[in-house]
Amino acid sequence: MTETAMKPSTSTNGSLKRKMQGYVGFANFPNQVHRRSIKRGFNFTLMVVGESGLGKSTLINTLFDHQVFKPEEETTAEPRKAVDIRSMSADIQENGVKLRLNVVDAPGYCDFINNEDSWQPILENIESRFDAYLAQENRVNRNKISDNRIHALIYFIKPTGHSLRAIDIEFMKKLHTKVNLIPVISKADTLTFDELAAFKSRIMADINYHGIQIFKPTSDEFDDPETVAENKEILSKIPFAIIGSDKKVQTTDGRLVRGREYPWGVVEVENEEHNDFVKLRQMLIRTHMEELKDTTDIKLYENHRTEKLQSMGHVQDNTVFREYNPVVHQEEERRLHEAKMQKMEAEMNAVFQQKVQEKEAKLKQSEEELHARHKEMKLVLEKQRRELEEKKRRIEAQARLFPVKDTKKKRGIF
Ligand code: GDP
Repeated sequence: MTETAMKPSTSTNGSLKRKMQGYVGFANFPNQVHRRSIKRGFNFTLMVVGESGLGKSTLINTLFDHQVFKPEEETTAEPRKAVDIRSMSADIQENGVKLRLNVVDAPGYCDFINNEDSWQPILENIESRFDAYLAQENRVNRNKISDNRIHALIYFIKPTGHSLRAIDIEFMKKLHTKVNLIPVISKADTLTFDELAAFKSRIMADINYHGIQIFKPTSDEFDDPETVAENKEILSKIPFAIIGSDKKVQTTDGRLVRGREYPWGVVEVENEEHNDFVKLRQMLIRTHMEELKDTTDIKLYENHRTEKLQSMGHVQDNTVFREYNPVVHQEEERRLHEAKMQKMEAEMNAVFQQKVQEKEAKLKQSEEELHARHKEMKLVLEKQRRELEEKKRRIEAQARLFPVKDTKKKRGIF
């Protein structure tokens, strides 16, 4: 419905009034929400983790086409002794839409001789952001809650071409229930396409083997076929193989593109045949930013809040919560459904067992009958055999008493 059609009619024209009847106006809600969001702007907090030199700052600056990481922030006076957490913010505008982007970085991660507990300060940081949010929710005046929770974490995998390292697995296992993990293979231009394909499948095999949950775009019955196909396409690229560059270079056909120059040619950041940068950007910014925020709020944060409240001795009744958690509700429904299915399966098994027993009993009975008949027939045959033998004996005795000289006569006896 257009804006003009939504205005109450002042016309005395009866037919127009009839058209307006039954229109309450809540169909305009999406527009109102949209206008309010545009006015307020959007907020998104992204964390990047990976050892230094893997291309984190280059990728973020390229993704948002903005100098989020500034070169002067790279230098530190003293060599780092532990993993640090630092955050940067940038206000980005595109076609009048404002985005407040917060990027959290963990310099020092995996940069030491002993990297055993490198994940610890990162996990603590993510949890402390959840706790800060919880504290705001528990305040009497909850009008202005600022959301500093991490909505997504891009984990940079070193392009070794082998498989995930123990430290990668350890990190993901510690963090996967707290944050939307997005694994990327950085500097993909250092591997051939075949090496990349094999590397990707080994990484996914490791992720599945260790039961690590990573963020995957989901489709439901409300999505149109185009969206479903897009999501499938994005899914097929995970873990995204990325090439980053903050420079523009000239291709052999004269185009000026963001890319990396080699003696044999140019690898283009925004060319889907060269790497998965475009798909990562699409998922992260263009199609799934809201889903990442929703998953953070509804699933990851809610789980943390439940754990926290339970550890403090509270028993949570989800149904009385302000924002009743649909994911938990869905999970509960799934459990009930599974229990029902299990009960049905058990009942079917019992019926099956009973039928098998009945059949077995019948078979046994007919086997016994068969056995008895066999025995009976054997007795009859035995009796017949004995009678025949008796007859044979009698004839032989007779033959001995009356020997036959003439063969023709002999034949005549019989
Ligand atoms: P960070 O320490 O993880 O933030 O890494 P930087 O973004 O500072 O990148 C470190 C170096 O790697 C720089 O010289 C980048 O130009 C280079 N680099 C970044 N991305 C890529 C890439 O995709 N391929 C290659 N070959 N080099 C890259």
